[in-house]
Amino acid sequence: MKCAFCNNNFYIKRSILELFKIEREYICNRCYKQYPINIRLEKIQLDIYECTIISMFDKKYYIDMNYYIKEYSKIFNAFYKKENNHLLFFDEIDLNDDTFAILDGISKLFESNLIILTFNVK
Ligand SMILES: [Zn+2]
Repeated sequence: MKCAFCNNNFYIKRSILELFKIEREYICNRCYKQYPINIRLEKIQLDIYECTIISMFDKKYYIDMNYYIKEYSKIFNAFYKKENNHLLFFDEIDLNDDTFAILDGISKLFESNLIILTFNVK
């Protein structure tokens, strides 16, 4: 397979049982190490409700995040069906007073806790 980032060919070691299982990989191991996923969960107390921020990366990478769709959807599925929560998506979130005021407003509008899925926190 060709790596989506560095364009190098790479191979995935498979056991005989997995040989016919088609699993698409987009990024080679070297690039995975260069842009490592580090999932962090941060809880913020808003005025009434609570906001959970889940970020995937430590910093902003200028890469096509679509190639991380497998990891992204796993995180999404883990939080999607949590009751009394609203799920929001941001490429990047800047945690400052304005952001907190906006999040506070959103949580009051939906009358629920918020879960924010983002690539990185500024
Ligand atoms: Zn690569």
